[in-house]
Amino acid sequence: MSQVEKHSFQAEIQQLLSIVIHSLYTNREVFVRELISNAADACEKLRFLQTSGQLAGVEGTSGPAISLVSDEAAGILTITDTGVGMTRDELVANLGTIAHSGTKAFLKALAEKQQGADGKLIGQFGVGFYSAFMVAKKVTVFTRSQTLGAEGWKWESDGGEGYSIEAAVDVAAGTKIVLDLKDDAREFATDARLETIIKQYSNFVTFPIELNSKKINTIQAIWARSKNEVKDEEYLEFYKYIGHDFEAPRYRLHFTADAPLSIQALLFVPTRSFELPGMGRTESEVHLYCRKVLIEAKPKHLLPEWLRFVRGVVDCEDIPLNVSRERMQDSELLRKLNRALTNRFLKFLAEEAEKSPDTYTEFYAQHARYLKEGILADTEHSAAIAKLLRYESSATEAGKKTSLAEYVKRMPEGQTEIYFLLAGDRAAAEASPYYEVFQARKFEVLFVEDPVDEFVLDRVREFEGKSLKGAERADLKLETPGAGALSEEDAKSLSTWLKETLGEDVEEVRSSERLVDSPVVVVERDSFMTGSMRRTLKLMGQDRSGGFEQAPDLEFNPRHPVVVRLQSLRTSDAETAGLVAHQLLDQARLAAGLLEDPRAMLKRLNQLLSKVVGVPSAAAPSEPAPTT
Ligand code: ADP
Ligand code: MG
Repeated sequence: MSQVEKHSFQAEIQQLLSIVIHSLYTNREVFVRELISNAADACEKLRFLQTSGQLAGVEGTSGPAISLVSDEAAGILTITDTGVGMTRDELVANLGTIAHSGTKAFLKALAEKQQGADGKLIGQFGVGFYSAFMVAKKVTVFTRSQTLGAEGWKWESDGGEGYSIEAAVDVAAGTKIVLDLKDDAREFATDARLETIIKQYSNFVTFPIELNSKKINTIQAIWARSKNEVKDEEYLEFYKYIGHDFEAPRYRLHFTADAPLSIQALLFVPTRSFELPGMGRTESEVHLYCRKVLIEAKPKHLLPEWLRFVRGVVDCEDIPLNVSRERMQDSELLRKLNRALTNRFLKFLAEEAEKSPDTYTEFYAQHARYLKEGILADTEHSAAIAKLLRYESSATEAGKKTSLAEYVKRMPEGQTEIYFLLAGDRAAAEASPYYEVFQARKFEVLFVEDPVDEFVLDRVREFEGKSLKGAERADLKLETPGAGALSEEDAKSLSTWLKETLGEDVEEVRSSERLVDSPVVVVERDSFMTGSMRRTLKLMGQDRSGGFEQAPDLEFNPRHPVVVRLQSLRTSDAETAGLVAHQLLDQARLAAGLLEDPRAMLKRLNQLLSKVVGVPSAAAPSEPAPTT
């Protein structure tokens, strides 16, 4: 005759259960994840015992599996596995005491909170087996160990003070857990709800999971397999599933690491960027697993924000299944994980760029802005990201880009800095007065089209020991200034006159040693600012000069025929000379992108044209021609 033994739960378990039963909780569905995880663990243990020869003659031939059967009408959910099962002693130890870590951690967190029942905390922690009592008024466990000749047992509890144990006949090897659902938890006996939950949390569990005889987990956790065992089609199928993308990915990185953390990761870069300009930021789509069971979908801080274009999964064994999400956010563990993943991913991109530059170019066209964002936002990695930057330059063909590393390799002797110039396009860059000295000295200049790049390269500051410098701010001189220039004395008196004539519009006027073809150029006084930067800041409403703008310096080319003529013109025809001086300044502003309103310039141009064609000054139009 079978005898019913009554047992009391350990005090901590009683405490835990009263919280579990009496509190309101936000995500009760995690109990499915917990019970399936336990079932999968039991299957795993069985497989281990079999393969290590510690267990012979296992019952059943189809291999370990997990099945769920729901009876909606009766409000019963049954979860069965053909795993190792439990002996009587194991049953008492495992389901009556608090030996395992997750529950302990939960109680500890609860004690720290000092607020008694906190439903949210239960959701955040998986409280393991006991989470069943969130939804069930009664839990019955039938189990039989796979060890030879083991007896079957029945364990039962209503989540109160204790449980009962009795021997049971006709129990299959493995474990069957029957949940008699609470009235307000009957949703967990409906097919659709269960399928969603299983797919969400347990889709990649190694063992087949059946729900009412239908197999649910059809996609394998290929990240846990070795790279050379996974076929391209499998990767593609997996990516489409996890990445919600119909296109094949541009890149895939599948890797494992043992130190400092045990990681299995499978990361993808979509072919196209999903973030549309002006449509707000997308969310990271990298999910965190622990031994194939979902810990958290899209956890924040798993990867840096600027890597949000990456999709995939990260499986880390060092994260316990029942870790608190709140704690994970600021945990040292997550920081380590973030660092390890970011470094590995950056290394991967650098290798790919080297290996197949054309594919990298396509990647760059779609995703460069994330890299640039990374440089601006992430000081820890900006140096590594800088290696991934690509720009057109005076040394590349039109349309081809180069890296900073290649630039440095090409630097001639005597060049100590890396130069870049922002201009609307290549033609504009080549025509810029700022470019002249570089062309003359055969120094390469990176042509930068996006105003953001000025800030980006400024932030990079230096590369392989060479500092990066905006061409407008470069302190460079022509090697051979050339003949036919104004004398030093003339240049000085022209400087004084120009300053007097132009007044507040310029801070200082001086003779330039870097202009070849252009007569004049403006130079920002603030050594951290360029004309275009000032313009960009203004557009963003971030110009901190507070309305007060310091006028730029004006440099003139003492070799330029117009300038040379101007020096004598200012005594022979002061009026025309004045017009020319102002016109030159506006031209220089235009080249620097600083001329906001061209109307005054047009008016002056008309006055000059009138002089050139010989219109008597009284007849000269004093207003600009209407723009039609
Ligand atoms: P954890 O999984 O963190 O150990 P749980 O509360 O989920 O904590 O489970 C407690 C223990 O009960 C497990 O460690 C395991 O030994 C045992 N157990 C639970 N479910 C099963 C099962 N389906 N088959 C065999 N053993 C189980
Ligand atoms: Mg568990």
